[in-house]
Amino acid sequence: MNIEVVTGNITTLEVDAIVNAANCGLLGGGGVDGAIHRAAGKELYEECLKLVEGLPEHRGTTGQAYLTGAGRLPCKFVIHTPGPVYRDGEHGEPQLLANCYENSLRRAEEMKCSSIAFPCISTGVYGYPKEAAAEIAIRTVRSFSPVTLEKVVFCCFEPGDEEIYRKFLNKKS
Ligand code: ADP
Repeated sequence: MNIEVVTGNITTLEVDAIVNAANCGLLGGGGVDGAIHRAAGKELYEECLKLVEGLPEHRGTTGQAYLTGAGRLPCKFVIHTPGPVYRDGEHGEPQLLANCYENSLRRAEEMKCSSIAFPCISTGVYGYPKEAAAEIAIRTVRSFSPVTLEKVVFCCFEPGDEEIYRKFLNKKS
C-alpha cells in the first residue's frame, strides 16, 4: 500500500473514498466536516439524515466509521468517523483515534476501494496534539493488511502538518 502526503483541500481529491473528521451528530459541523458538506451539497446531508435515523439514539459513536455516497464530490464515498475530543491522553484517546483510522480503512475495503484520503482527524477543534495524532495515523495505516486498497493519502491542510507526517513516515516503524 502506497502512502502519500499532500497539503490541500480534501474535497478536491480524486480518490475512491475520503474520510470526514465528523462529530457524533453526523450531520455536518465546522472545519473539514463543514467543507465536505458544503462541497458535496444537500444529497450528502440527506443521506446522513437517513444514516443517523438508523443508529441507536440517532448518534454515531466515537471511533466508528460510517459510509455514505459523496453527492457532488469527485470521490465515490465519504466515510464519516467521529474522532475523540482530546482531554489529556489518559481517557482512551489514542485507542479511539486508532479506531477511527482502522474502521475507516475497513469501510473502504468493504466497498472495494483502491484509494482513500484522510484528514488529520481530531487535530482541529478536538485538540489532539498534532505529532501524537500523526504517529497514531501512520502506525495504524501501516499495520493494516489491505486487500483492495493500494493507496492511502494523508491530506494535510495547515502549514507545517505535512512536515510532521513526513518526519514519521521516514522513521522505520
Ligand atoms: P476535529 O473536530 O476532528 O478536530 P477539524 O475539522 O476541526 O476536526 O480539524 C481536523 C483537521 O482538518 C485539521 O487539521 C484541519 O486543519 C483540517 N481541515 C480543515 N479543513 C480541511 C479541508 N478542506 N481539507 C482537509 N483538511 C481540512
